[in-house]
Order: sequence, then structure tokens, then C-alpha cells
Amino acid sequence: MDKYDFIIIGAGMGGLSAANFLAKYNKKVLVLEKHNIPGGLVTSFQRKGAHFDLGIHGLYELEEGQAIPQFLEYWDATHIETVPCRGNMACYIDGKKYMFRHGTIREDFEQSFAEYKEDIDKLFRVMETINKEMFSGTEAPEPPYDMNLLQMISFGMKAKKQKPMFMKYGIKNAKKILDKLTDSEELKAAIYSYCPYPMVFMAFAYQWGVFSNNEYPKEGMQAIPDAAVKSLNRMGGTVKLNSEVVEILVKDEQAYGVRTKDGDEYHGQVISNASPQYTYQWIRNEEKLVGKMQKAIEGKKIYPSICAMFIAVQDTYDFENVDCITITGTQDYKLAPEGYNAENAPIVINVYPKRECDKYRSLVALIPLAYEYQNFWQTEAGKVRGEAYKGLKKSVEDVLLNRIKSHLGSEFTDAIVSHELSTPMTYERYTYSQNGSFMGWSAEEKEYGKYMKQRTDIKDLYLVGQWVFPGFGVAGVMASGYYLAKEILKNDGIDLKKDFTDYFSGK
Ligand SMILES: Cc1cc2nc3c(=O)[nH]c(=O)nc-3n(C[C@H](O)[C@H](O)[C@H](O)COP(=O)(O)OP(=O)(O)OC[C@H]3O[C@@H](n4cnc5c(N)ncnc54)[C@H](O)[C@@H]3O)c2cc1C
Repeated sequence: MDKYDFIIIGAGMGGLSAANFLAKYNKKVLVLEKHNIPGGLVTSFQRKGAHFDLGIHGLYELEEGQAIPQFLEYWDATHIETVPCRGNMACYIDGKKYMFRHGTIREDFEQSFAEYKEDIDKLFRVMETINKEMFSGTEAPEPPYDMNLLQMISFGMKAKKQKPMFMKYGIKNAKKILDKLTDSEELKAAIYSYCPYPMVFMAFAYQWGVFSNNEYPKEGMQAIPDAAVKSLNRMGGTVKLNSEVVEILVKDEQAYGVRTKDGDEYHGQVISNASPQYTYQWIRNEEKLVGKMQKAIEGKKIYPSICAMFIAVQDTYDFENVDCITITGTQDYKLAPEGYNAENAPIVINVYPKRECDKYRSLVALIPLAYEYQNFWQTEAGKVRGEAYKGLKKSVEDVLLNRIKSHLGSEFTDAIVSHELSTPMTYERYTYSQNGSFMGWSAEEKEYGKYMKQRTDIKDLYLVGQWVFPGFGVAGVMASGYYLAKEILKNDGIDLKKDFTDYFSGK
């Protein structure tokens, strides 16, 4: 049995961020990760001469001076070299091809939809303003549970004043806003195509705003968690891989450690980077309290899940500098993900920059098919991944691949070397993210801003990552680690916000 100040369940970017911030202030930290590599949803893998990331393409927040390099720098982590990920987008809408190129996106929209110039002006004005307001340097909100009623009202009023367009359009459901801004079904589909999820309009504005400005780590996404593990080790923290936590040890409503699958016991305060639904299942002897905690999240909607198809392609196929290919129908934006099936679901294919050591080009096709699809992918709610699951997975893969081939033609078909589909069940199995969710809770209008607390009803048990404040995304979960450490370190009289701000103010 080993004693630590903090034991962190999971080496996702949320867990690694909390660990780094706490270790920087001399806390003895242990991170236990069930997988054989760190990073959770930010991991990469190798298959038959191709290198794949789990689905993140480029990240705007990876640019110099943005959140991710800032967090890494504060931990004294190795600098991550990046390459721009800012090519062109080929967009098939009901089979018709449109091109939106880096640097001329707006002009390309105007050319493609010449009779809707006014609508395009409106759309771009709204999207550009929302992005400007989001990145305007206005202070990040404090965790909302720290606010009393008066502070909340004042926060809402301040937000309305500082971010009027964001508040008016950004936090509304996209369908509503798209319908308001144009009558052209093709134009709506074009905006929707890059980000085909039922979300607040802000997300679409964000995607189109950052498209063409993304950065990609030269060595692949795995470089980010790898850098965070190295900095943590340098500061005295430990990461143990292949170590699955199966029990959170709690006595008298206070957590005091964890037990792993191998029977090892570690004592200390506990921070879980796994989803709350899984985390709560690992607590024994506190049925009443756990029941209350489970009830509080029972009806909360989860972000729609996705399938990812990993495709390796020979260099014989010329992508003509295209970084993203989308296949969408004009009516897709009206459907909820439950309405999608393999035949009609929108497809977003990210084409990755090829690393020098890669033999083939890697593509990841993302398809929003529901966790509940055909009796939970024929697993009866995740219980049996047997022959029926494999059969369905194979048939979905065939249909999706044929749809992609029919759009990209025989040269593409001939260049394919390998392909492999992962379902929401795969994502769930690997990360213990409930429903395989890759973004945590739903960001629909009525859910938007309803953050979950990092502190739980069990003393010394905390949550970090995409399910808690301030929510999903790589930069978001790293910020979640920052906010949690800030709260915890307050008890030692440490003002992390001041230290962090002072560190960067001279730069
Ligand atoms: C296809 C795709 C596209 C995305 N696109 C973007 C994007 O464009 N921009 C962006 O910012 N974000 C994007 N994201 C989202 C982003 O990757 C996630 O929001 C974020 O990485 C989640 O981090 P996390 O730390 O909360 O959790 P996770 O990454 O899920 O990490 C949780 C970790 O805990 C471990 N764990 C769980 N249970 C246990 C246990 N019992 N014992 C030990 N370890 C355990 C898991 O193995 C995992 O490593 C995308 C994600 C995907 C999959």
C-alpha cells in the first residue's frame, strides 16, 4: 500500500492536467491509467504502415500563445512542434461537389451560392463576431458553483454586454439559427457539414472560424499527452499504465484511496478522470449517498456519440490539397442523431498530414451514429459484444465505405490499403466514457452552460475532464485540471490564478 496526496484515475488530458498543476506545487501525485498509453481520447495508434489519431484533426488552441502551449509551458513541458492543418474542404451536398479553400472561404461561399450573397454576409458576420467575442480576452468564468445568485445575475448581464452576438445567436440551437439566417437548404447544409451534430450555433461558428487555422503536432496527437507525462515525471509525479481502478475506497463518506484490478491499494485523496457514471459504480458501502449522486445526473442528456472509420490510403490517390471531405444531405441538419442510419448519416472525412515515417496517408471518417443504434449495436445495452455485434459492425462499415467510394471514385477505391470501424461501444470500452461520448454532456440549447461540479458529495473525491466545468475539448479539459487544482491549492493559501497570470504577464 502506497500513500499519495492525490490519486488520479485516468491519464486523459483532464487527469494529466490536474496531476501536473498539483505536482508543480509539490503534491505527491499518482496517475493510474487502465490503457497501455496515456491520453485517453487524445491517443494515437499504428496500423499496417499508417498512423492514426482517434479523431481529432487539428487544434486551434495548439497555436503559439493559445491555451494548450500555455498550460504545457507552465509545467515546463517539452515544446510541441506543429504543422499547419489548413487546406481546402471538399463538400458533397446531395452528391454535388463544392470547394471551400483556405484563405478564400468566404469568396468560395459567395461563388457557390451566388444568389444568396446577403445571407452569406449575414452568416459570416454572425460567425466572425461570435468567434471574436469568444476569443476577446474577456475573463474566463469562474466555476459557476462558486457564484451566489447575485453574482450569477451580474455574470449573465456582463456576458450580454461583452458578448452580445454570442448570447443572441451562439447559445441557441443551430437548426433554429440556420433557418433564421437563410432559406437556402444547400447553404445550411454546407455550414452544417463540417460539424454535423445537434449543437448550439456557437459550435458551428467556431468550427468555421477555426477551419484553416488549425495546428497539428508533427508527431501526431499522442505528442500532447506524452509531453504532459514527461513534465509530470520531472516534477516527481508518477504515471502507472495498465492499472485499472476497480474500487474507490470510501469510509464515513470520505474517499481515502483506490484499489486496482490487480489488487493493489493506493491511499490518498481521489480525482477521477473517468465519466461520473462509471466513477460512481466503483464506490462501495455508500449506497444512499451514491444513489443520490446517480439520481442527480440520471436524466442529463449526453452528447451524441460517433463512429470512426480509420482508412489507410496509398499515395497514388491525389487529394488535391484537401484536408477535409464531407458528405451531407440537405435535410440532415433537421434530423436528430437517432434519425441517422448507415445509409443517410452525414460523413466527415479528415485527411491527416503524412508524417515522414508513414508509408500511407491516414484518413479518419467520423459518422454520428447513436450509441443506441439497432439495440445498442446488437449488444443489448453494452452487455454482449458477440457475433451479432460483429455482424452489424461489418455491415455498417461496408455501407459507409461504399458511400465514400461512390463519391470519391474508383481511383480512391483502388488506393485503399486498409480500413477499420470503431463504434461508440469501442470508445466506451477504451475510455469508460459513458455511451462512448467524446464530448461529455450534451451542448444543446437547454443543456448549455449547466456545468457539473468538480467536487462530489463524497469528501476528498473529485471529478476532472470533459464531464465537469468547463467542459469538453482538449483545451477545455486541461482548463478543468487547472480549475480543480486552483480550488484544492486554495486550502494551502496558494493563488494559482495569480501565479499563472503573473507568469504570462511578462511575456
Ligand atoms: C473523434 C473525436 C473528435 C474530437 N474533436 C475534438 C476537437 O476538434 N477539438 C477538441 O478540443 N476536442 C475534440 N475532441 C474531444 C476531446 O478529445 C475530449 O473532450 C477530451 O480529450 C476528453 O478528455 P478527458 O480527460 O475528459 O477524458 P478521456 O480522454 O476520456 O480520458 C479518460 C481516461 O481515463 C482512463 N480511465 C477510465 N477509467 C479508468 C479506470 N477505472 N482506471 C484507470 N484508468 C481509467 C481512460 O482509459 C482514459 O485514458 C474529439 C474527440 C474525438 C474522439
